[in-house]
Amino acid sequence: MLTSLQGKSVIVTGGSKGIGRGIATVFARQGAKVTIAARHEDELKKAAEEIEGEVRYEICDVSDWDSVREMADSVAAAQGGLYVMCANAGAFPQTKIVDMDPAEWDRVMATNLRSAFLCVKAAIPHFEKAGKGRVVLTSSITGPITGFPGWSHYGASKAGQLGFLKTAAMELARYKTTINAVMPGNIYTEGLQDLGQDYLDTMAASIPLKRLGDVEDIGNAALFFASDEAGYITGQQIVVDGGQIIPESLEAIAEI
Ligand code: NAP
Repeated sequence: MLTSLQGKSVIVTGGSKGIGRGIATVFARQGAKVTIAARHEDELKKAAEEIEGEVRYEICDVSDWDSVREMADSVAAAQGGLYVMCANAGAFPQTKIVDMDPAEWDRVMATNLRSAFLCVKAAIPHFEKAGKGRVVLTSSITGPITGFPGWSHYGASKAGQLGFLKTAAMELARYKTTINAVMPGNIYTEGLQDLGQDYLDTMAASIPLKRLGDVEDIGNAALFFASDEAGYITGQQIVVDGGQIIPESLEAIAEI
């Protein structure tokens, strides 16, 4: 049993859907005060109503500095400070390099990588004020460990998050704040469903635990990094993928 996050102030970007919603659900269940942030108000409102616990929402574009700063300040005012920043929002359009418009590369970098920097920067004044804090990034196995045709920009952004993480851990230490990353494998979300049933079936077959991950599998890992028990862990990452990156060959996975 981890130390309670009862009453702690938490932001989850991309919390209206998928993994972010799973993270928000896990923290709200622990009694945390949770704000979910994304661009579309209808989905945010619905999720905030449906998730059990103390959940509010803010409209925010994580690639835009003013939007992120205003969101973090507004959450701190509404929730009595800010303890946990879950920088989770992300996008994964699938386009091969030969076909990719440079503007798409920039958009993915802004949504996935620039956003990590902006979320941390916006949270620092609040961590400094409180003398403590936690950041949890949602990275991926794609990029840092694996590759997949069409996701060169996505993979680069997710590997970039881990590069950012190392120096951020050093700079945040003075505020008694840790920063760590969860690296999901294939998690069953709205975003993944858009890739089609064939993709989902092929992926499930390539995972030793023989199922896609649940959004709360990622929420539980984020919760651990936010707990007091993880207070001496910073600049690190954990893979949550049902063993997907382990098999060395098709024969190896066929043996199971
Ligand atoms: P999803 O179902 O598509 O949900 C994405 C969420 O991010 C939505 O709430 C979306 O809301 C929000 N979002 C997107 N762009 C945004 C922006 N510019 N500003 C603010 N919010 C934005 O995606 P998911 O599958 O849950 O993925 C969530 C994170 O996990 C991403 O970082 C992704 O790279 C990572 N991940 C996912 C998997 C997986 O298998 N699903 C695996 C590895 C890593 P709006 O559109 O309303 O803004």
